[in-house]
Amino acid sequence: MKISLRDRELVDEARRLIRRRYEPDRHHVAAAVRTRSGRVFTALHLDTYVGRCSICAEAAAVARAATEGDRELDTIVAVRFRGRGQPRVVSPCGACRELLADYGDPLIIYSNNGGLHKARASRLLPAKYSRPEEPR
Ligand SMILES: [Zn+2]
Repeated sequence: MKISLRDRELVDEARRLIRRRYEPDRHHVAAAVRTRSGRVFTALHLDTYVGRCSICAEAAAVARAATEGDRELDTIVAVRFRGRGQPRVVSPCGACRELLADYGDPLIIYSNNGGLHKARASRLLPAKYSRPEEPR
């Protein structure tokens, strides 16, 4: 799926946030999610010494949108910054793909082979975990 001007603006929102709030060993990833209402919510990831305790920026951005009662997610992106250069779009981790597929299956802007692409979370997570007795 092609990347639109609005998608590039979403990437820029995430880049602006991580440039502003970057802190080594604390915050080096930011996400921006656009909801169907057109609002954009941004968030940082929370890094920890014990990796599994960390909170991904995508999850934090979805939580911010849900907190505001704006839960219909349209498109999301995350970028990683190393303190210099251009923050780069990163692909969501497996846990975030699960989360996003559960929360409306938004489009994800991700990088692959040096280019930006866009696909639904469910497309990036074939054979997703499910509980057939409790369909979403
Ligand atoms: Zn993640």
